[in-house]
Amino acid sequence: ERELCLTIVVAGASGDLAGKKTYPALQFLFQHGFLPRNVAIIGYARTQLTNQQLRDKLRPRLKGSDKERDDFLGRCTYVAGAYDGADGWNKLAAVLNEREARARFCCQPCGRLYYLALPPSVYPQVCAGLKTYCDDIPPSDGSWLRVIVEKPFGNDLQSSEELSDMLGKLYPEKQLYRIDHYLGKEMAQNLFVMRFANMFLSPVWNRNCISNVQITFKEDFGTQGRGGYFDSFGIIRDVIQNHLMQLLAFVAMEKPLSIHPDDIRDEKVKVLRCIKPVSDHNVVLGAVHDPTVPPGSKTPTFAAVTLFIDNDRWAGVPFVLKAGKALDDRKAEIRVQLRPTPHFVFGGDPETARNELVVRLQPDEAIYLKMIVKRPGLETGDTAISELDLDYGKRYPGVVIPDAYPRLILDAIRGDQQHFVRRDELRAAWAIFTPLLHAVDAGRLPVHPYPYGSRGPEEADELLARAGFVKNREYRWPHAA
Ligand code: NAP
Ligand code: NAP
Repeated sequence: ERELCLTIVVAGASGDLAGKKTYPALQFLFQHGFLPRNVAIIGYARTQLTNQQLRDKLRPRLKGSDKERDDFLGRCTYVAGAYDGADGWNKLAAVLNEREARARFCCQPCGRLYYLALPPSVYPQVCAGLKTYCDDIPPSDGSWLRVIVEKPFGNDLQSSEELSDMLGKLYPEKQLYRIDHYLGKEMAQNLFVMRFANMFLSPVWNRNCISNVQITFKEDFGTQGRGGYFDSFGIIRDVIQNHLMQLLAFVAMEKPLSIHPDDIRDEKVKVLRCIKPVSDHNVVLGAVHDPTVPPGSKTPTFAAVTLFIDNDRWAGVPFVLKAGKALDDRKAEIRVQLRPTPHFVFGGDPETARNELVVRLQPDEAIYLKMIVKRPGLETGDTAISELDLDYGKRYPGVVIPDAYPRLILDAIRGDQQHFVRRDELRAAWAIFTPLLHAVDAGRLPVHPYPYGSRGPEEADELLARAGFVKNREYRWPHAA
């Protein structure tokens, strides 16, 4: 196979995301031999930087020995230019064309990946600039051009559709890779395998056996100086509408026809379209006191939302999506609580003696199933809640679970869109949350204050109880700190 001439353009290379995620992810792929030998990474932004200044800025963010960092940085160059007008883009085009001329001569395929590490407000300009001035790519077999874009994809259904329309006019869906980094997480990807490769799960995975599902994201710090950004955005847009909804889709979707990316995404869209917009009485909002948030702000830093999926499998089963900042813990998990066992002939309260399957995405990947067993000892009719426990750190010692960004960038290089959000998925997710978001923005819903480091407003536990969640207070984790 002829080797690919790969060029990655990082637009917004001077920014936070580029330094924190994009370049380190590219270095990971480079170091582990996942990028072709003929790779160049060209940064583009308005800030005036020389190649050397860019490298000095990136070096502390990278990993490995000086030599390993230098090897990677040797592939990184920089072009300074504006996002509007022709001048900057023409400069970039000249660099791209010079680089690809040789490949063109040898009929070598060229891959171009544009990574937009920029505020979405400039996506229209940037995409138009790239399209108009830079997109001349050698027409050899196997050449391709793809664009990675970062959230936020709008801030409600209408603005998201406008952005999609605009991008769609420049680049067709098959060239667009919308990142939701939760789709790059090991356990998010694992959900799909777990659900559809295990016979014992499939007969119980429905309204007959499952009482309620919780999908939870907790952070134990506040907005950390990003209060200004966060204030215009809020936790529903930042975490729930995108990341937690993607997890919900994996938990609830039907088995796809095949593992082809579009077969999978078809099923995700179908299940999202079965969800009605959230009603006000199924929401609890909270706000923590945060000095970086403008005074008087009512932007929720906590939200719990109950959704219902109107289809045969899930009708009536509450899915509670819960996310908050400045809480008591840092974790992301899915908790599937089963119904109580009928005709419970043992001691103890059958209501609380329930099976619960927990899939923890972070901090440490784990899957555990709360399981009722005979209490060890002489008593025969007594039960205890124990667990079947799959702890990834113990089960797969020494296995490096890569971060989401390298995985997703590698998928984009390989042309695999499975873990990227398709336009219709995005539309379906916004449709569910837009009426609620407008009510929140208009200040029409109560926002409950909660103390820093707590579990969030108490009203959220009431919402969980209404959803049928029963906290088992007897369960003890033997290895708790
Ligand atoms: P950023 O640092 O504010 O912006 C990236 C670069 O864009 C800046 O260095 C700046 O480069 C240019 N820029 C900033 N504001 C601009 C404006 N108003 N008009 C034109 N150019 C502007 O943003 P970021 O944190 O890297 O985020 C980039 C994208 O990733 C955003 O869509 C963000 O929502 C998303 N994202 C970020 C994170 C994160 O952790 N940072 C996480 C997830 C998603 P020049 O001035 O040099 O042109
Ligand atoms: P848990 O942390 O006790 O939480 C269980 C559920 O109850 C969560 O939905 C939680 O909500 C809710 N909850 C907590 N306090 C509540 C309260 N006062 N009122 C109402 N609801 C409340 O989790 P668990 O699954 O029972 O496990 C107990 C501990 O064992 C955890 O620390 C867990 O990490 C550990 N464990 C670890 C492994 C492993 O690492 N392999 C295996 C098994 C258990 P919030 O999430 O909103 O707080």
